[in-house]
Amino acid sequence: MYMYWVIDFFKNLANDRFMPHGMCYQWQPVTLWSNVLGDLVTAFSYFMIPAFLIYFVSKRKKIEMKGLFMMFAIFIISCGAVHAISAVNVWIPFYNLSGFMKLTMAGVSLATVVLMYINMPEALKIPSPSDLQVINDQLKAEIEEKTRLQTELEQQREKLQKTIKLLNSTQEAAKIGSWSVDFATGESYWSNQVYRIHGLEPGSPTYLREGINFYREDFRERVNEVVKQAQEEGKSWDEEWVLVDINGNEIWVRTTGYPTYEDGKVVGIEGLIIDIDQQKRAAIALEEQTVELQKSNAELESFSYSVSHDMRAPLRAINGYAEILKEEYADKLDDEGNRLLNIVHASAIKLGELIDDILAFSRLGRKELTKRPVEMVELVHQVVDEVAQSPYWNADVKINIEDLPNAMGDQSMLKQALFNLIENALKYSSKEEKIEITIGSNAEEGESVYFIKDNGIGINMEYKDKIFGVFQRLHSSKTFEGTGVGLAIVRKIIERHGGKIWLESEEGIGSTFYFKL
Ligand code: ADP
Repeated sequence: MYMYWVIDFFKNLANDRFMPHGMCYQWQPVTLWSNVLGDLVTAFSYFMIPAFLIYFVSKRKKIEMKGLFMMFAIFIISCGAVHAISAVNVWIPFYNLSGFMKLTMAGVSLATVVLMYINMPEALKIPSPSDLQVINDQLKAEIEEKTRLQTELEQQREKLQKTIKLLNSTQEAAKIGSWSVDFATGESYWSNQVYRIHGLEPGSPTYLREGINFYREDFRERVNEVVKQAQEEGKSWDEEWVLVDINGNEIWVRTTGYPTYEDGKVVGIEGLIIDIDQQKRAAIALEEQTVELQKSNAELESFSYSVSHDMRAPLRAINGYAEILKEEYADKLDDEGNRLLNIVHASAIKLGELIDDILAFSRLGRKELTKRPVEMVELVHQVVDEVAQSPYWNADVKINIEDLPNAMGDQSMLKQALFNLIENALKYSSKEEKIEITIGSNAEEGESVYFIKDNGIGINMEYKDKIFGVFQRLHSSKTFEGTGVGLAIVRKIIERHGGKIWLESEEGIGSTFYFKL
């Protein structure tokens, strides 16, 4: 039955007088076919467009508003179906189906409108190709900038690594390590050298407590105290402590610590550890040695003092008996006897002078220093008056006393020093026709330097230090009398004042002795 209907349908199509809906198409086959063809081609296209849309949606990994796309596809399919059924309706009246399809299309199109309304704000956000181009360009520029910064960062990182390496080797060479502590975590940072000082392998994590426990027990209380003061009062420290390394070796270290702040609050400490073991031990050794030396010096001084003191009585006896011999027995001795007696007497006198000088020198070490302001011009005048009694004084002596700044010192000791220097100036110029001695002063780096200048025989500068030693003389007693203790006394006085003495001299021209207190 169905078969007949189909054969009949195609027969009719072939019949050139057949024209379905001839009325509607004004019996014009062109009108009919243009409508039919238009519907069919549109239907075909409407079926194909969703296919492409679905293909497009399925291929795009990320697509906005996927639902709307699918709705469009359904909408276009339903439009295509309506066009297709319209073409069929020209020959076969599926008007119910056609109506149903149109209603479906209406529903779908309405749903599409609603969906479009809902998606509009989002759709508006989707950038246009030109917007995308601008964004793309910006992104490109940003990427280029980022790449440049990345390279710069890489270069900086390399530089930093080099600097860290240099710092590490500097710290190693200088035996200095840096460290820091974070109070929040209790964790510490140690540089490689800090690990080395502790005898540890660099890198292992450390904590504040562990660090403190490395210090010898007798120092730990102080370490805890300074850490507490840094934490609570923001105080820094710089101290020398003994550290016991992992192998049990005791090492002297100097540690410094400075609080670190965040928002005005102390959050940690950072500082340095310096291995000062060698210097410290050398200094300690020097300090024992110095004490030992001072002790033996004191012993030696008191020994020479008591020996000299004890020698005075027998010497007085020799002197006294020699004088009696000279006075009462001179006529009973022959010439040679008298000559020998004179030598004994002179030697006893000389020995007495020596002993007196040694005693004066020894007393200096025991005498307490009482520093007071001293009017130097006045003191020099007193000394010159006393020196004027010396056998070396003669009418041709010219003494210039310049304006002298006052000094702070022990007046009697300074008088003794000035006496020795001025008397020497006179003694060692006594062979000159005209003697000229100047006592003056200079200011050197804010300090007063006093000087005593003469035009005497001068000193070979090779002996500039030697002459300040006890019994050190450059001349025999025959040329110039003396014991060789005068300058040793002067040096001791100046040094006891914390000062310094030195000289400038030229043989045959004269000498200048300088001192500052
Ligand atoms: P003394 O004068 O008793 O020999 P000093 O200790 O005073 O001992 O001096 C040590 C030596 O320094 C002297 O023997 C002398 O050779 C030399 N000397 C000291 N003062 C002068 C001077 N003003 N000019 C030249 N030589 C001097």
